[in-house]
Amino acid sequence: MLPAPVLEKAQKEMLDWQGLGTSVMEVSHRGKEFIALADKAERDLRSLLNISDSYKVLFMHGGGRGQFAAVPQNLTTQGDRAAFVDTGVWSKKAVEEANRFIGADVVASSYQDQSGLWHVPQDKVVEVASSARYLHYCPNETIEGLEFNFVPKASNNAPVIADMSSTILSRPIQVDDFGIIYAGAQKNIGPSGLAVAIVREDLLGQARKDTPAILNYSLTDEFDSMYNTPPTYSWYLAGLVFEWLLEQGGLSAVEKINQHKAECLYQCIDNSDFFNSQVAQDSRSWMNVPFQLGDSSLDALFLSEAEKQGLRALKGHRIVGGMRASIYNAMPLSGVKTLIEFMNEFERTRG
Ligand code: PMP
Repeated sequence: MLPAPVLEKAQKEMLDWQGLGTSVMEVSHRGKEFIALADKAERDLRSLLNISDSYKVLFMHGGGRGQFAAVPQNLTTQGDRAAFVDTGVWSKKAVEEANRFIGADVVASSYQDQSGLWHVPQDKVVEVASSARYLHYCPNETIEGLEFNFVPKASNNAPVIADMSSTILSRPIQVDDFGIIYAGAQKNIGPSGLAVAIVREDLLGQARKDTPAILNYSLTDEFDSMYNTPPTYSWYLAGLVFEWLLEQGGLSAVEKINQHKAECLYQCIDNSDFFNSQVAQDSRSWMNVPFQLGDSSLDALFLSEAEKQGLRALKGHRIVGGMRASIYNAMPLSGVKTLIEFMNEFERTRG
């Protein structure tokens, strides 16, 4: 979801942005109006995440997967190795992509406890080879709904790289804990087509010679994220989302709402004899809440009846099955409450 006030503002400005008589999509990205928009979006993002001057904020192409390649290309040379934490589908895809360029070693993985519940690895310091160039992990696994509630460190103090695609802007973070934070935009930032990379300055300037220019962090920085034509409409909408988040009171206010939304939904699942969660308390995502029905033969009925209530996109990813409620920033508490009421009613009548 995108926040309704953002979509309404975009609708209002569609044909006449800033009194120019055109949409923002039609103006030049090199014009002063778009450059002012880009500057403001960066300033607002810096303010939301409290990003210090020792980090560059880059607006890039290629989504989350583009960054799977950009990270090894910008930080390593041929023959290097890096360490990866594997907590699910997106961690594995990051490993797969990195392996095109380096040796990617999985050094820690999610695990099931004796009751079958899933946990993220609990080590605050992850043991890595002394030569590991960085430690990569996914703070929130979108498909499995596994989220870290701490930031792991590498035993050799290598920079920690985080794929925050599905958790960025959901709560405050300490940017200084990371070498690079990156995210595809289409969860909490805006529409797809954009990726944000927050890169510690000292990690610039090390890209391989054969790195494609549009994935090169130093070039992107040098050209203020406009080495080539950026995805201007996504950038514009991201800027509106940042303004909306600031109006909500910033990330500490947003955190409270997100925590409450997630707690209400997990409580509904835990209090039920019909629905269940396979994720342990210490690793539960605030953004993606997978759950199963006690009787999976009712899955299709659950989905079709949910749809009738306007509750969409609840089908879990085919890899894990069951259901998944994605409750990103723009999902209001009332949406979560509607889902809970529906689940309670479904259990009462069909369970
Ligand atoms: N990482 C995570 C955690 C994701 O959830 C996704 C997309 N769902 C990706 C990476 C890939 O993003 P994209 O489709 O923008 O390449």
